[in-house]
Amino acid sequence: MLKGTITHWRKQLTAGTITPKELVQELATAMEQHNSGTNAFISWDVDKALQAAETADLSKPLGGIPIAIKDNICLKGEPTRCASRMLHNFVAPYDATAVNKLRNAGAIPFGRTNMDEFAMGSAGKNSAYGATDNPAAPGHAPGGSSSGSAAAVAAGMAIAALGSDTGGSIRQPASHCGIVGLKPTYGRVSRYGLVAFASSLDQIGPLTQNVEDAALLLNSLCGHDEHDSTSSTLATEDFSAELGHSIKGVRIGLPKEYLSSGNDAAVTNALQQAITKLTEAGAEIVEISLPHAEAVVAAYYIIACAEASSNLSRFDGIRYGYRAENTNGLDELYSRSRAEGFGSEVKRRIILGTYVLSSGFYDAYYAKAQKVRALVAQDFAEAFRKVDFILGPVAPTAAPQLHNSGMSPLQVYLSDIYTIPANLAGLPGISVPCPQPQGGLPIGIQLLGRHYAETALLRVASALEQAFA
Ligand code: GLN
Repeated sequence: MLKGTITHWRKQLTAGTITPKELVQELATAMEQHNSGTNAFISWDVDKALQAAETADLSKPLGGIPIAIKDNICLKGEPTRCASRMLHNFVAPYDATAVNKLRNAGAIPFGRTNMDEFAMGSAGKNSAYGATDNPAAPGHAPGGSSSGSAAAVAAGMAIAALGSDTGGSIRQPASHCGIVGLKPTYGRVSRYGLVAFASSLDQIGPLTQNVEDAALLLNSLCGHDEHDSTSSTLATEDFSAELGHSIKGVRIGLPKEYLSSGNDAAVTNALQQAITKLTEAGAEIVEISLPHAEAVVAAYYIIACAEASSNLSRFDGIRYGYRAENTNGLDELYSRSRAEGFGSEVKRRIILGTYVLSSGFYDAYYAKAQKVRALVAQDFAEAFRKVDFILGPVAPTAAPQLHNSGMSPLQVYLSDIYTIPANLAGLPGISVPCPQPQGGLPIGIQLLGRHYAETALLRVASALEQAFA
């Protein structure tokens, strides 16, 4: 297992105490010896990584640093399967823009991380390649859908990783595995080459060992991309610029709706610790209200499923991936390819999405959910008139048992209540681990910021991280 952050390994690389090839080799050994314990990776190509390491430019900001990539982000010449049987034989013909940008910054994409199929799930169990275990709490779910990215970083099999967050899939697994997960503002990072789940919500972001590394990765990931019309034209910033700066006088909102009795005692306790630490550091905690907090799960699952049903219609057995054998006619080819290629959660979402978009129900469900989405965005706009940041839990509970959690699909959906709002409103959010007593499960604290306020958000997150240390 490999210890050390990006900053640590950058120092070693530039000092010449290790070469990029040796670093890749160390990680490959860790994967070979320990991946069977967590199943964090579903494929990796050591030769390709070694090849990239050979020409790694150490003068670049991420020069020589291997980064693990979630299996739904295209990596040229390597399997990009979204942990689905549907894409079992799919090899990406091009790099996602995010991957391209990492390469331009000198990084070495290495290893495809396990995930919930097509990024649909909260526990890492909906993978055609088997569940991921939580290295920080074996036998417990690592969270999802970026289960493998979080587990690989927490286990020391990756220095850092990319994930995607549609309704919490970066922040929630980071919380369950005791690491840092950042969902940037919608549009901050190009989605080109990210296999679409719900296009109006999806965003790529980093999963790292600390806040500093999250800033470092974001520095290289963002910038306008002509291939993604929703990517921002804002100039890129130095997201590390305010790390370590004081947070005196910063106003942080605590939504009263988030102090629910449905939260586990350990989660309430972690939130209390965060309030105390942030207050000691000079921040002012202000009670606020997000009046539509209760409606977010329903709105999200209608919108996300509607978009998924449309996005996933391209997997028809003709153009991509899995095709059923011995079919009789075109209709049967479509239906059997999709029936055999998709897992049950993906099918559930496609059926739900098709239903809410159908002509008789469109107004009652889809149109209404869009109205709720607008109200949620309004709630945040109102709140950000009073405060600069918003504090809350990442999830109502710590990581549930990996198997036999006893949770129904609806209960699993409900556990996304605190992460979904940032996606509906397009806001940046970060999960910072809160120290737990010996034997306790990891629990993260969530901070949300205004659109494109990642630099300031990272400053507050790093202050909280320091205060927790
Ligand atoms: N758990 C949520 C879902 O299943 C979020 C997934 C995600 O962010 N990709 O839809």
